[in-house]
Amino acid sequence: MNIQKTRFCFYAILLIVLSLLASCIDDNEPVDKQETVTLYVSANMGQTSGLTGTMHDCMLVKEKGDDTWNTWALEGIKGFNYEKGYDYELLVTKTTYANPPADGGAYGYSLIQIVSKTAIVHAKIAKQASLQQTYPTVSAIISDPTVKSKMEEAWAKMKSNASSSGRNEYGFYIYYDSNSKQYSCGTMVKGPTIAGCEGTNASVSLGIPTNNITVCAFFHCHTTLEYCPSTVSRATGPSSADKSFATTNKLPGILYDYSTKKLVGGMKKDASYKVYTFGPSQRVFP
Ligand SMILES: [Zn+2]
Repeated sequence: MNIQKTRFCFYAILLIVLSLLASCIDDNEPVDKQETVTLYVSANMGQTSGLTGTMHDCMLVKEKGDDTWNTWALEGIKGFNYEKGYDYELLVTKTTYANPPADGGAYGYSLIQIVSKTAIVHAKIAKQASLQQTYPTVSAIISDPTVKSKMEEAWAKMKSNASSSGRNEYGFYIYYDSNSKQYSCGTMVKGPTIAGCEGTNASVSLGIPTNNITVCAFFHCHTTLEYCPSTVSRATGPSSADKSFATTNKLPGILYDYSTKKLVGGMKKDASYKVYTFGPSQRVFP
């Protein structure tokens, strides 16, 4: 009789345990995970090979925190129509699929909001095949007194203009006349005011060079984070967009930025800075 009772109890408990397990499994059934993330889309397009092996245009995209651009299909962000020539910052819903489709990726993206849309940082330089000109090396350019004083002027402007209400980049093209062996600098361009701190990127659009033959380099400076909280930071040195502009246009890039590897919010704007060069060491013509 006791044994019967014990057995009954055993089965009753087993049943409860099993049903609990079953409900646990139900609760843990994989579901799509959604989060809001920031994406950056480059003004420059990339190239990717499709299934057939032919190359086609694609977007260059990176998620906030990523260092490198990834190639994305033009229709890769639901609700977003990419327009070449603009740098974008987007707020999107990122869905991590519990059961990714066999032919698709593990993630889905749909647009919430275009946070910013900035005309390409530097206009593309047209090719001119007729004239030949020898261009100075970037190290010669940065040691020229005319160029140097203009770069110092840009840096001073960046510092004096920065405040708790915003900051701006400054930049200009540099020209070299191979006949007179003289350097000259283009008009100083002030980039749009960036008011926020976290997740923001200042930039400057230099437009089209006034002389496509003599342009030998482009210069810009990055901004201080003195008026930002210590919770934000950025890497110093040329950005991937800066580098890609230099490479695409075969034009040396010159940058003024802080000497420290990582600039943290609150660091004094008078901290030491240095010149960074990137892209080709000398303009290639055409
Ligand atoms: Zn830059």
